[in-house]
Amino acid sequence: MTTIKAAVCHEFGQPLVVEDVTLRAPQMGEIEVTLDAVAICHSDISFAEGGWGGSLPAVYGHEAAGRISGVGGGVTGLAEGDAVVVTLIRACGACPTCSEGKPVICSTPYDGDKGPLTTTDGGKLHQAMACGAFAEKVVVDQSQVVKISDDIPKEAASLIACGVITGVGAVVNAAQIRAGQDVVVIGAGGVGLNAIQGARIAGARRIVAVDMSEEKLEIAKEFGATDGVLATEKKPFVKAMRAMGRGADAVIVTVGAIPAYDEAPRYLAPGGKVIMVGMPHSGAKSTYEPVVLAAIGQGMQGSKMGDVVIKRDIPWMVDLYKQGRLKLDELISGRWTLDQINEAIADTKTGSAKRNVILFDRN
Ligand SMILES: [Zn+2]
Ligand SMILES: [Zn+2]
Repeated sequence: MTTIKAAVCHEFGQPLVVEDVTLRAPQMGEIEVTLDAVAICHSDISFAEGGWGGSLPAVYGHEAAGRISGVGGGVTGLAEGDAVVVTLIRACGACPTCSEGKPVICSTPYDGDKGPLTTTDGGKLHQAMACGAFAEKVVVDQSQVVKISDDIPKEAASLIACGVITGVGAVVNAAQIRAGQDVVVIGAGGVGLNAIQGARIAGARRIVAVDMSEEKLEIAKEFGATDGVLATEKKPFVKAMRAMGRGADAVIVTVGAIPAYDEAPRYLAPGGKVIMVGMPHSGAKSTYEPVVLAAIGQGMQGSKMGDVVIKRDIPWMVDLYKQGRLKLDELISGRWTLDQINEAIADTKTGSAKRNVILFDRN
């Protein structure tokens, strides 16, 4: 049992409160990680706004990196002192979806109300997304972490935990893009820029970024986009089509905006597919013309967390970063302390930020 500082959501739509909370010791199969960095993801914001419901009070945060500071029984291949990336991908390893190689959609439920966090007076405190990383330390299942080398900065490593694997994985694992194919990425934010660099790594021919902001289209080009189209234009898909010729083999929707979903199939080549990554709030509906998709063999496919297998995919991403082929440092637009988390969230909501990272001072 230890007392740590965490940013707690007591009421949806209200600022988080940085306060003392209680974290119990790691139990069977769990590890404790003392965090160096946690990035702010749009999912954290959607939860804190109440967009997807959930239990309160809660600690969000799920894009983290740090060092193992405690190990429960039955943990293999991880030891105190190891540098790790901490993800929200908690996988039992035994259910039908885990068994067929899809740990990101593990079907064994986890109840964050009964997790390692409690209030200092012993009350319920929800460990959101099986992670609760807006805190100095987390206790998570061993399936959620990947050991990394010491020489990668933790602020860069933290980004891999969600935004990077989600974007790169959507292209490489979900769309299975191969050299010479064309890709459209809608939204050039934290996930979109990673889908763009995933397409570059996969060898795509044309990579068309679509965004509301001219400035973000310029940044997209630094990450590998060959063309940029303003989403505010009338029929942006016409301009994108001109750049590609026959249309996209894959359209990666990385934003939760409904108009982006409505228009996504319009960018497709015959046989192409929309990869649905961005998550609108619960209840939001999109419309499209099914006859077109049916007639020319197109499809739509959801992709959670880039369909990754973290112990396979995170090590190669770390290696690409070290080679200079995967940009991580360039994704960070702001560095903040835990006490500044509400400012960091506000900055993320403006839409102009790439990734804001909370750094924990260890003096
Ligand atoms: Zn995330
Ligand atoms: Zn499972």
